Amino acid sequence: MRLRNITGSREMIKESPFVVHEPEERKGKWKETFGNDRPLFVEIGMGKGRFLMDMARLHPEVNFVGIEKYSSVLLRAIQKMEEDPLANVKFIRMDAEEIGEVFAPGEVDRIYLNFSDPWPKDRHAKRRLESRQFLARYDRILKKDGRIEFKTDNRELFAFALEELEAAGWSADAVTWDLHRDPVLNEGNVMTEYEERFSALGNPICKYIIRR
Ligand code: SAM
Repeated sequence: MRLRNITGSREMIKESPFVVHEPEERKGKWKETFGNDRPLFVEIGMGKGRFLMDMARLHPEVNFVGIEKYSSVLLRAIQKMEEDPLANVKFIRMDAEEIGEVFAPGEVDRIYLNFSDPWPKDRHAKRRLESRQFLARYDRILKKDGRIEFKTDNRELFAFALEELEAAGWSADAVTWDLHRDPVLNEGNVMTEYEERFSALGNPICKYIIRR
């Protein structure tokens, strides 16, 4: 997702109280940042933040951090937060490659990856958020019993993501190639913006839940 460059979006982000501006300085201090002891769930590539904010409304007992690479997209999430502020949500504008600079070992309870960019060329495989290189980054910041939940309608990307698990030392708790027809995994499912768009076109949604 890359919206047209919005003039001044970086400046608007700089002034937003919903964005953590020097996230490296928060490493190991996320409980202080939120002012409480609640679990920390992180969505990487949150886009305009619909899933993150719906989850935060449903789970006030959890703190949520949304990571997004592009200012123009993050700005949309900020605008939604301005309409309906949520005390348990913070945003970071960054490339997830640097995630180890922002969270201390074991600081994160759960990671969500929703409709990640596919990077279809083989030579770009390591940029995929489900690659073994990214799984190694998540391994460092996730709690021992932490989990990752990934959804996509891209079946090639999903097959790749499943293949990466063993090499990276992860195992699947649950896998479905058609989430919306899986009564167990679909219970309580919170749709993302892309999920709604692609399932309306008839695309089945794939999902895994993994642990080490
Ligand atoms: N998760 C949302 C959803 O399901 O509706 C948005 C999906 S969109 C296809 C993927 C988003 O991930 C884009 O907004 C993109 O900018 C962001 N993204 C991709 N790679 C990223 C990275 N390395 N770090 C941070 N954000 C990233």
